[in-house]
Order: sequence, then structure tokens, then C-alpha cells
Amino acid sequence: MIKVLIVDDNKFITHAMRNILEEMDFNVVGVAHDGLQGIERFMEFWPDITLLDITMPNMDGLECLGKIMEMNSTARVVMLSAVQDKHTIRNCLASGAAGFLQKPIRKGNAEDLGRLSRALEHAAGKTV
Ligand SMILES: [Mg+2]
Repeated sequence: MIKVLIVDDNKFITHAMRNILEEMDFNVVGVAHDGLQGIERFMEFWPDITLLDITMPNMDGLECLGKIMEMNSTARVVMLSAVQDKHTIRNCLASGAAGFLQKPIRKGNAEDLGRLSRALEHAAGKTV
């Protein structure tokens, strides 16, 4: 089973994403609510895929992404954010993100779930 870490300061989102991912047969190994905690959980669980929000307190997703890629340059990190700014999206991809998912991902919305599953499949298949 593919191990996934979810990092988002919004607890409703981490809760919903955990449910959605578990229904898709992913193994959600951990949840974190800011970038600092995200790094701690990453080191603890060494997930196959990290789903990472951008706007968070203490340490934002872009900084967290940088630290994760420093620890493991083959880490697969998919950004999950409401941010639409092309510069930020490009920055994430240039910093090593395996994908960028636009929020929201709504449970029961086929299009959203399709986007999610394509992004995760792509990240899981990313060559190391
Ligand atoms: Mg946020």
C-alpha cells in the first residue's frame, strides 16, 4: 500500500482527505497541521507521497517542500492548495513538487477525485 502523509492547517481538510484517500486504498500514515510538524512527520513515517498545503502557520508549504527535498531529493510531494498564482505554482514545481492540485477536492465529485487520483498515480510513478 502506498503510504501518504497529509499536511494542511485546516483540520476539516485533513479529515476529509484522510477519508477520501483511505477509500482509494492509500495508507494514510500521518497528518500534520503546519510545515514544521510536516517535516517531523515526514522524518517519522518516510511516506511514499506527501500531500502538502501551501498557506499554513509557522512554516508554509513552499519552505516545507524545500526542506523535504533537501532531506530526500526523490521525495514525491504533491501540493494541494487554493493558491492560483502561477508564479507560486511554478516555484513549487521548480522546487521539486511532483504535482499541483487545486483545492477543493470534494468527496463525491467525480472530476475532483479524478484529478486527485491522476496526480497521485503520477507522483507514485515518478522515477527515482
Ligand atoms: Mg492552509
